[in-house]
Amino acid sequence: MVAETLEGAMKQNTMFDIHKIRKDFPILSRTVNGKPLVYLDNGATAQKPQSVIDVLTHYYTHQNSNIHRGVHTLSREITIAYEEARKTIQLHINAKQPGEIIFTKGTTESINLVAHCFGNLAVSEGDEIIITQMEHHSNIVPWQQLCKEKKAILKYIPINEAGELVLDELPKLLSSKTKLVAFTHISNTLGTINPVKEMIATIRSLSKAAILIDGAQAVPHLKPNVQDLACDFYVFSGHKLFGPTGVGVLYAKEEWLAKFGPYQTGGGTIKTVTLEKTEFADGPLKFEAGTPHIEGGIGLAAAIDYVNAIGFDVIQKHEEALMTYAAEKLSAIDNIRIYGSSKHKTSVIAFNVIGIHPFDVGTLLDKYGIAVRSGHHCTQPLCQFYNIPGTIRASFAFYNTMEEIDLFIEALKKSIKLLS
Ligand code: PLP
Repeated sequence: MVAETLEGAMKQNTMFDIHKIRKDFPILSRTVNGKPLVYLDNGATAQKPQSVIDVLTHYYTHQNSNIHRGVHTLSREITIAYEEARKTIQLHINAKQPGEIIFTKGTTESINLVAHCFGNLAVSEGDEIIITQMEHHSNIVPWQQLCKEKKAILKYIPINEAGELVLDELPKLLSSKTKLVAFTHISNTLGTINPVKEMIATIRSLSKAAILIDGAQAVPHLKPNVQDLACDFYVFSGHKLFGPTGVGVLYAKEEWLAKFGPYQTGGGTIKTVTLEKTEFADGPLKFEAGTPHIEGGIGLAAAIDYVNAIGFDVIQKHEEALMTYAAEKLSAIDNIRIYGSSKHKTSVIAFNVIGIHPFDVGTLLDKYGIAVRSGHHCTQPLCQFYNIPGTIRASFAFYNTMEEIDLFIEALKKSIKLLS
């Protein structure tokens, strides 16, 4: 049934030839411990297609120079390429203008930037910020720190046993003191897809709070439309979207960027500097201090071009089939507990083998060439809710196959036998 669904999905779009796609990712043909690599740690970071690797090689072979301040050919060429990359990202997420795209190091830095700039602009003693119990530490700690600094109050939307947000609580948490609500689009530990549009509608109807969406786990699986969402901030990392590490994005509505003071300062952020004072640049450059991750920016644009050429509709169908198949196979094994049973869930299965530590299972799986993640996945409050030290997390990307899931299940059964 599942294979039929997959086959159907593949037939519908001739672009989606899984074997051809896998050839685009050189790392997928390597072996680990003498076994073919089965890479199911895509939630941590995704593999890179040859087109992205080629962009990076081409940059260092033919284009390397610094951007924005040079008059020579190399500098002008790469400045154009970098600003084109900003535009590619703008169009991909449907921001109003390229100036609303700020290049950062990744999701974590994007959130820190907003916490710093928004915090200085709009948060005072007694104000409130709301996040959720399922957030990644990167969307908890900056808000905790800000609240500590400003003597503001941090509130949490709770989760239920199914790993969904208890949204009945949201109206009760909102008040005239709420300055910002930040939440993940997709949970990195559970795969739950949060009803972000519905949440935004509730927040807008009951408060004037700004809204930040952590899209780190969403962008490999869907194409966010920030104007349709009408969020204030949307953040993600390049490396989870099949692009380079060390580069990420902060989408911020232009009206916020115009009001924000600088984040880090120095070269690149300024209009004029005298010995007495500095006048800062307008737009995104004000927030991009120092020489940026130039090749990261153009590499991320190449990754976006790559996934768009496949198409998110077929990516989603394939990933849905993988998830259903893996969940069925996993549930058939004795003593497995799967965490997160939301109907709206994608590409992540977190589980434990009752009585066995997740690290032991993960370590043995590696002997069979299976790469999964074991631990708290930077969501300790979520693990505290389930009263567990962590989970084993298998996370899928569009280049994974049913055969890989079979290998994973086979290796898991052998590991359990050895550990029992
Ligand atoms: N938010 C979520 C939901 C994540 O899954 C991650 C990384 O796993 C992050 C934030 C942090 O991303 P980065 O380490 O790329 O900054």
